[in-house]
Amino acid sequence: MINQTMVNLGTAKSVIRELAAFGAERAKVVGKENVLDFSLGNPSVPAPKEVQEAILDIVQNMSPVEYHSYSSGAGHDGCREAIANNLNKRFGTNYTKDNLLMTCGAAASLSITLKALIADEKDEIVVLAPFFPEYTVFIKEQGGKQVMVEPQDNMQLNIEGIRNAITENTKAMIVNSPNNPAGVIYTKEEMMALAELLKEKEEEYGHAIYLIMDEPYRELVLMDDVEVAYMPNHYKNTVINYSWSKSLSLPGERIGYVLVPNEVDDELLMAGVAGAARALGYVCAPTLMQFVIERCVDVEPDVTVYKKNRDLLFDGLKELGYNVAKPAGAFYLFIEAPDGDSAKFSEKAKEHDMLIVPGAGFGAERFVRLSYCVETEKCEKSLPLFAKIMEEYK
Ligand code: PLP
Repeated sequence: MINQTMVNLGTAKSVIRELAAFGAERAKVVGKENVLDFSLGNPSVPAPKEVQEAILDIVQNMSPVEYHSYSSGAGHDGCREAIANNLNKRFGTNYTKDNLLMTCGAAASLSITLKALIADEKDEIVVLAPFFPEYTVFIKEQGGKQVMVEPQDNMQLNIEGIRNAITENTKAMIVNSPNNPAGVIYTKEEMMALAELLKEKEEEYGHAIYLIMDEPYRELVLMDDVEVAYMPNHYKNTVINYSWSKSLSLPGERIGYVLVPNEVDDELLMAGVAGAARALGYVCAPTLMQFVIERCVDVEPDVTVYKKNRDLLFDGLKELGYNVAKPAGAFYLFIEAPDGDSAKFSEKAKEHDMLIVPGAGFGAERFVRLSYCVETEKCEKSLPLFAKIMEEYK
């Protein structure tokens, strides 16, 4: 008898993957250019030229034995030192390589962090809707209980909801800003209010409540006057889960990190993170990519295309009468289904070969997610289809 839970996970249909597979089939029939696939979060902007230059430099000038070998479990010293220096410059921190463990992307960072933290089946992890659906899998598989909090109507933090969700069993909460799927960046004021609330609750229950900041979109900020709060500077029990999947357009290369500041209550947390990475069989993060990151850690993403697509879609959809909030970051747009039924809205769009993801998996039934990390032309082509769909609702 094999593990049925794993069989279920392996065979369960992900709505996003199903939509993408449908799109690939339709492309064979009607042509790729006629399928508007807004389902996946694969960056459309190519990795910056510095990444390619770094790869060429490494491959041409380093011994293959070096760049193909295992690194230590935590990662190469030079890579972690370069990241620590970058963060210290940007956020006024005092990190060293020892605060960092390199991972196979933010998904691995999350599983590792959760495994290190969850010690008892009663342990609860608070997640804020709308959220990345894999959180549910990661929390359950690391033995914790997920507790979901609804957002405010504008998708900002619902501090009262969070207050009510925290119990003596709360081990951690996951916050993702800029957010997938809503594109929202939580305001600095609300993040400060969250830090205050967590401190109050830590005092009340007499133990640490960890704030896991899931930040693969940190640098994808599309508005000038918005700041993504750097939470370790405001709340000591913060752990950062980061990756370059989105900022340097490297999702297939699987490279990220877990950062544990020295100030956290449990001084053994970093050891626990290393143990969790080992127990999950990660061994080390891809070595070639660690050398690339060492060279490219200061490179900033070009968000021009994402801004252009965001503006084009936001303005166009608003004009057509859709309820949509202007995303401040990431590359997702959250659109309310005209009658509140996002599954039906997604089906209607599919009839026009346009693929948008219904919100149930994100914990937001009324909304669909549109990933605008695509060619701008596809965004332009979508508006007449959205107009037709709106007509169908009237
Ligand atoms: N967290 C969020 C919010 C995401 O959207 C994603 C990927 O889309 C991840 C984590 C996982 O990213 P990675 O490719 O770095 O594993």
